[in-house]
Amino acid sequence: MKKIEVVRSPKVMTALAKECLQEGLTIGFVPTMGAFHKGHLSLVKRSTAENDVSVVSIFVNPAQFGPSEDFKRYPRDLEGDLEKLRELKVDTVFSPEPEDLYPGGYLTYVNVEGLSEGLCGTFRPGHFRGVATIVTKLFNIVLPTRAYFGQKDYQQARILQTMASDLNMDIDVIVCPIVREEDGLAMSSRNAYMDEEERRAATIIYRALTKISNMLAHGELPVSRSSDGLRNILLSEPLVDDIQYASAYDPETLEELKQDDCTGEVLLAVALKIGRTRLIDNMIVKI
Ligand code: AMP
Repeated sequence: MKKIEVVRSPKVMTALAKECLQEGLTIGFVPTMGAFHKGHLSLVKRSTAENDVSVVSIFVNPAQFGPSEDFKRYPRDLEGDLEKLRELKVDTVFSPEPEDLYPGGYLTYVNVEGLSEGLCGTFRPGHFRGVATIVTKLFNIVLPTRAYFGQKDYQQARILQTMASDLNMDIDVIVCPIVREEDGLAMSSRNAYMDEEERRAATIIYRALTKISNMLAHGELPVSRSSDGLRNILLSEPLVDDIQYASAYDPETLEELKQDDCTGEVLLAVALKIGRTRLIDNMIVKI
């Protein structure tokens, strides 16, 4: 088994990355907030398969949490995470402290306009500005050739692809499929917040997405009725609270699709709360 180097200092991380690049090696990078599940590990496996060296960052980024969000109680388990990575061919874990990345006097933020405003952006103001900023910083520190993100956070992935292209970052932003539990629930570090009853209720999200996606694919529901279709199913579960959004969107622009003459791919996306836990999920449908 390989020994993973745990690096805390951004300067040391960059020095290591430069050594690799000088040797002509490609660097795969998986940015995470830790508390690993199989979704995270699928990104790591893809990185180790496609690159000479792989770096995983573990950093719960304060800049992407709102004042009333779960920054403090977000699960943290560095030792457990390192254990899960040991079987994989990861070279370096980069795990800085908040003050290493946001020292006093920090003033600079990256904002991807438009794409950051709808969907989760409406309910989490400033969230994607925090995400785009930390990912830019991590890209500048880790100097990756390719970076891996999950489709689970579809809007985030679209924002980061756009950011990399708009800012001429010479990095391939690769989006990997959603990994699900056996009952269909998309894996998430936040699933651990739910009790048994809530966890059971949460399967309604996958059931709603699957049902509406099949109906759209078979022409049994017009695209403009997707939101009603999703909401009807979601509301059949009494523990579902606060459906923040549930509808069909253009997978490129993330604009809600209200017309029926759509061809090609449609994004179905949902965000809701079960108890205090906010859950998101999505599915791409070919019409
Ligand atoms: P996080 O630690 O939640 O910031 O997630 C780190 C990366 O893992 C992000 O690119 C997520 O989109 C991705 N990810 C989270 N959950 C899943 C999942 N169930 N399947 C695939 N990728 C995921």
